[in-house]
Amino acid sequence: MDLFSQNCPCCDSAKVDVRTRYVTQHNGTHPIYHCRSCDIYFSETFATPMAGLRTPLSRIIEVLKARTEGQGLNATARIFGVSKKSMIDWEWRLSKLKPALTLYGLCHQFLSLVIEGDELYTKVHHNTAASESEGWSIVLMERSSRLRTLDLQWLVHNFVRVHFTTKVIPAVKLGILEVGLSWIELFSIRYAF
Ligand SMILES: [Zn+2]
Repeated sequence: MDLFSQNCPCCDSAKVDVRTRYVTQHNGTHPIYHCRSCDIYFSETFATPMAGLRTPLSRIIEVLKARTEGQGLNATARIFGVSKKSMIDWEWRLSKLKPALTLYGLCHQFLSLVIEGDELYTKVHHNTAASESEGWSIVLMERSSRLRTLDLQWLVHNFVRVHFTTKVIPAVKLGILEVGLSWIELFSIRYAF
């Protein structure tokens, strides 16, 4: 199992060639592949969190880093000047990688969970000013966003970020990965079907 496999998403054949390339407005040039086995065409970003993003990836990563460091939804929206809806979309895209990375982890070794997010998020919630209460829809949006954020925390804390006591990325320590994933790599992983 290869996290960055470019095998055909339809038949899993490795007989794929770059057929052409296309330029995105903000996220560079990507190849279009052709599968010689089943004759379909697919883009490099097919079924990845990167597919169809309209905001530069570097900016999205900055915002999500702030979120995984415990920054609340309202505060992050204000500081970066982005909509909550966009942030929730980006968090959702990455949190959907959880099944793929869980499978990947299980294929190698039993993965123990390291989540330190809860405490931070509780704190952020208590610090929310009353003036920021925009009604129940926002509260519900934040609630559901927090669940997705916990999935995101799970990904980041296990596969990307060095653990604060062991100083090693947990997935590396457990022998699941040789080196930790970068944020850009996270955006390039295909979802598990
Ligand atoms: Zn194919």
